[in-house]
Amino acid sequence: MPEFPEVEALRRSLDDPVRASPIEKAGPAHVATLKTFDPPLSELEGKRLAGVERRGKRLLFPTDDGELVILLHQMTKGRVRYLQPGQDGPKAPAFRLRFQGGGQLVLTEAGAKKRAGIWLLTPEAAQAELEHLGPEADTLDEGSLGAILASEPRRLHSLLRDQRIVAGIGRAWSNEILHTAALSPYAPAQGLSPGQVHALWEAMQAELARGLELRERGANDKRTYRVHGKLGEPCHVCGTPIARVDFEEHTIYYCPQCQTGGRTLKDRRLSKLLC
Ligand SMILES: [Zn+2]
Repeated sequence: MPEFPEVEALRRSLDDPVRASPIEKAGPAHVATLKTFDPPLSELEGKRLAGVERRGKRLLFPTDDGELVILLHQMTKGRVRYLQPGQDGPKAPAFRLRFQGGGQLVLTEAGAKKRAGIWLLTPEAAQAELEHLGPEADTLDEGSLGAILASEPRRLHSLLRDQRIVAGIGRAWSNEILHTAALSPYAPAQGLSPGQVHALWEAMQAELARGLELRERGANDKRTYRVHGKLGEPCHVCGTPIARVDFEEHTIYYCPQCQTGGRTLKDRRLSKLLC
């Protein structure tokens, strides 16, 4: 799933093109993708977008008259692109916005399951829709992170991915951040020392910035990630093969040398034993 670095890089790339011309035609939208029916998409036609904003992993496209906001969540497999006039697009996108002059914003989603979503909302309704989200991961200060961690008995990997706690991080960047912080994915948040809280905060800022920079340059997953999806490859810090463990519904990648003091984490789906 696209996380802060991917969604922010996308936002920056879309910001100019979507505000260049008024909307000519909004839709069609796949019935499972469009989550709202009132106001109708046709309300967008003739309006101009004010650019693109981001909240967590969601993109927001406010109209420049301040009346409407398109909220877009790509989920795991949804992908948004801007097509220049004359550029070939998908035949049946999950959602399309055509601008005067021929540019298009298209959302596609691979696979039969449609999970990505589009909401057309008033600014007030959009705010309510986003209310549950925690502070943005990239701008969270160390003191606020410390306060969040001190109040949470949960394990770090699961905590970092919870959008209500911190918005913008998913399983891939949890893996990258915890590796850089040299912290076990299973470490309980409440048990961190001030030095570990500092390391986690520094790693969060550094990794999200590194990811954003790479994604803005168009780097693929293989070049961007150093731990996530790298089972058996040497850790870039110590050379130990990266290990993997299934935890709840997610797979975690980690370095047993840098992060868990040489211990292998047990599969939580098979065993209640803690490492
Ligand atoms: Zn290592």
